[in-house]
Amino acid sequence: MTYATFFNLLPLIAVTFYTILLIAVFIRRSPEEPQTRWFSGFLIASIVWQFLLFFDADLSLPPNFPLKALLIGTLFLGMTTAVYVDWPKQRQWFLVGIAAILVAIAADILLPDLTVEIPIGNATTTYRGIVSFIVWFMLTSFILIRTWRNYRTTQFPWHANRLLFWAIALFITFTGEALLFFLWTGLSLSGQIVRFLGVIALAYAASSYRIFDVRTRSQKVLALIVITLISALPMLGVILAIEELSTWQNWSSSATILVTLLFLTAGFFLYQPFRNFIQRVVNRYLVGEGFDTNKVLRNYSQATSRILDVNQLSMVILGTISELLETNYGALLLVSKIDEGYQLEVVPGIGQPPREPLTLSDTNPMIQTLLQQHQPLLQYELDFNRQYSNLTTEVRSWLKNMAMDVFVPITAGDNLDGLIAMGPKKSGIPYQPDELDLVQTLADQAVIALQNARLYSELEGQNEKINQLNVDLINQNERLEIMDRVKSDFITIASHELRTPLTQVKGYADILSAMNDENSLSQDQTREIVGHINRASAQLEGLITAMLDASQLDVDGMQLTFMESSIETIMRLAVEPLRTAMIERRISFHIDGLPDIPPIHADFKRMVQSFTNILGNAIKYTPDHGSIRVSARLVPVKLGGIDHVEIVVADTGIGIDPKYHELIFEKFFRIGDPQLHSTSSTKFKGAGPGLGLPIARGVIEAHNGRIWVESIGEDEKRLPGSEFHILLPLRQPDGPDEPPKTTANTQKESALLIG
Ligand code: ADP
Repeated sequence: MTYATFFNLLPLIAVTFYTILLIAVFIRRSPEEPQTRWFSGFLIASIVWQFLLFFDADLSLPPNFPLKALLIGTLFLGMTTAVYVDWPKQRQWFLVGIAAILVAIAADILLPDLTVEIPIGNATTTYRGIVSFIVWFMLTSFILIRTWRNYRTTQFPWHANRLLFWAIALFITFTGEALLFFLWTGLSLSGQIVRFLGVIALAYAASSYRIFDVRTRSQKVLALIVITLISALPMLGVILAIEELSTWQNWSSSATILVTLLFLTAGFFLYQPFRNFIQRVVNRYLVGEGFDTNKVLRNYSQATSRILDVNQLSMVILGTISELLETNYGALLLVSKIDEGYQLEVVPGIGQPPREPLTLSDTNPMIQTLLQQHQPLLQYELDFNRQYSNLTTEVRSWLKNMAMDVFVPITAGDNLDGLIAMGPKKSGIPYQPDELDLVQTLADQAVIALQNARLYSELEGQNEKINQLNVDLINQNERLEIMDRVKSDFITIASHELRTPLTQVKGYADILSAMNDENSLSQDQTREIVGHINRASAQLEGLITAMLDASQLDVDGMQLTFMESSIETIMRLAVEPLRTAMIERRISFHIDGLPDIPPIHADFKRMVQSFTNILGNAIKYTPDHGSIRVSARLVPVKLGGIDHVEIVVADTGIGIDPKYHELIFEKFFRIGDPQLHSTSSTKFKGAGPGLGLPIARGVIEAHNGRIWVESIGEDEKRLPGSEFHILLPLRQPDGPDEPPKTTANTQKESALLIG
C-alpha cells in the first residue's frame, strides 16, 4: 500500500474508530443524559465529516461541504461543554452557533469561487474556505476560553480538575482539527491522530464522573522523568569515558568489555542509593515535602486527650489539618440522632462562621455512605455521583454555602458522632489518597475526645438547667411565702376593714340613742348622724360586695351579660365617680384614641367596675398634681383570629416593684403594712382591701382578655409611674361575627343599663 492510498483511506479508518467510541460511550453511560446525547451528536457529526472527506472527490459535493459537518460537530461539542460545565443560557448559545454556521453556508453560496494563496507553506484555499475556517476558529476559541475561565474561577479542586481535564482534551481535539485544515499528508495523519486522542479524552471525561488528578499525575510523571534522567546520567558518563579511554589507550575490545562490565556491576550496587538520594531531592523541590505521620499523630492525640470542650476540640483538629495539609478553612460538624433522622450542627474551626443546623433524614444517601463506608466523602461525589442525585435542594445549598471539599466521618461502631469538614487546600491541588487516609486516622483518634467533650457539654447544660431550676424554686418559694403571709394578713385586713365602718355605725347609733334619751336631738342633728351611719354602712356594703365578687372568681361563677359596648362610654362611666377626687387632688386626666376603637363585645357593667378599680388605683398611687393617661389602639396582629384592642392606663405615680407585678393581682395582697386599713378610696396611698385588681383581672380574663402591669420599680421621689395594659378581643368566640359599624345604639343601651 502506497503512502497516497493510506492517506486516502485515513478518513475511513477514522470512521471506524469514532464508531467504536460512539458504542463505548453508549455502553458506559445511559443515553438519556443530555451530556451524552450532545456528545453522541458530536461523534456522529465526526463520522459523517470523515465519510464526506473520503467521498468528497467522487461525489462532487458542493464546495466546502465536509467542513459544514465539522462545524456542526463543533457546535455539538460546544453544547456538550455547556451541559458539562453547566453554563447558563445554553439555548441562546446554541442559536448563536447555528447562526455562525449559517454565515459559513451563506458564504459558500454567495462568495465567488476564487483561489487565494496562503503565505505559510505555499498552500492555496478559497475565500469560502477562509470564512468556514474563521467560523470554526471563533466557535472553538469561544468554547475553549470559556471552559478555561470556568476552570480558573472554580474553588473546589476536584471540580477544577474536571474542568482542567476537559479544557486540555478540547485543546488537543481542536489542535487536531486545525492540523486537518492543511491538506498535506503528514499533517493530515498527525491531525487525525491528535484529534482522535483528544476525542478519546473527551469521551472519557463525558462518561466518567471522577477524573484522575491531572496536576498531581503530571507532576509525578515529570518527577519520574527527571529522577530517571539524573540518576542514569553518571552511568552514561562512565560508559562514554571508558570508550574514550579504550580508543586512547588502544585497549582490546575484550578488555574494554571487561572494564565496562566491572563498572556496570559497581554501578549496579551504587545506583539504588544514588537514585533514592536523587528522588528525595527532586521530591523536596518538585513535589513538596511529606510529613512525619508518627510525630503528628503523637502530638495530636496528646492535645485532644486533654480537651473537654467541642469548640476547642474543633480548633485543635482543624488546626492540625491546616498545618499538615495547608487547608484554608474547616469546621467540625456534630452529628446527633434525632427523631426525624440526623442533625448536623457546625462548630467553627478555622475561618468559618457558625451556621444554622441541618436536619438529614435516616435515608439520606450522604449519611448512609458515611455510616457504611467509614471513609472521607468528597463534595465532588455529592455533586456528580448519581448515587446522591436525590439530595434535596435544601441540603445541597446548605453544603454549597459551607463550601467544604471533604467530609471525614468520626464514627464509633455504628454511630456517626461527627464529621470533619475541610475546605480546599491553599494550593488548589486535590487531596491525595494518603492525605485523606491520614485525616481519617485523625478522625478515628478524635472519637473518644469528641464523645467526652459532648458528654461534658451536655453535663454543663444539665448543670445550667439545674441552676435555673434552683433559681425558679427560690423565686417560687418567695412567692409562696408572700402568699402565705397574704393568707394570714387576710384575717387582719378583713377584720380591720369590716370593723372600721361597723365601729362608726355603732358609735353613731350610741350617740343617737343617748341624745334621744336626753331628748336633746334636733332634726338637723338626727339628719347629720343618720348621714354618717348611712355612709359607714354603704362602705360596709361596698366591701362585702367586693368580697362576694372576689369569692365568685374562685368558683368561676361570674355571670356575664355580653353586649356591644363602646370603650369610650365604659371609660366615661368608670371615671365619673372619681372626677371629684381628681379635681381635689389636682390630677390631670387625658384620653387618647378611644373614639377610633370599634365597639367590643363585653359585659358593660363589669367592664365599668374593672376600669373604676384600675383608675381608682392610679389616683390613689399618684401624688397631687400628677397625671393619668388612658390610650387605646387596635392590635394589628390577629390573636387567635380575632382583632384585639389594647388599652393602657398610665399614671405618673410611685410605680410598682417588678417583684410584685404578678402578686398585686392576688386577692387581699397589697404592698406595704397590712395593719393599715382603708382610709379613703382616693387619698394618696390610701390603703384598700386588696380586691380591686383581682376583680379587674377576673372580669378581663372572663372576656378572654389579659391584664398586666409594666413599671420599672417603686420610687416615691422619682415617681416612675405604672402602666396597666388591658388586651381585649373585639368579639367573643361565640359572639356575633362582625362588630356593628356605628356605636350610637350601643351607647343608648349602655346608658340605660347604668341608669
Ligand atoms: P387596693 O384595694 O389595695 O388598692 P388592689 O388590688 O387594687 O388593692 O391593688 C393591690 C396593690 O397594688 C395596691 O395595694 C398597691 O400597692 C398596688 N397598686 C395598684 N395599682 C397601683 C398603681 N397604679 N400604682 C402603684 N401601685 C399600685
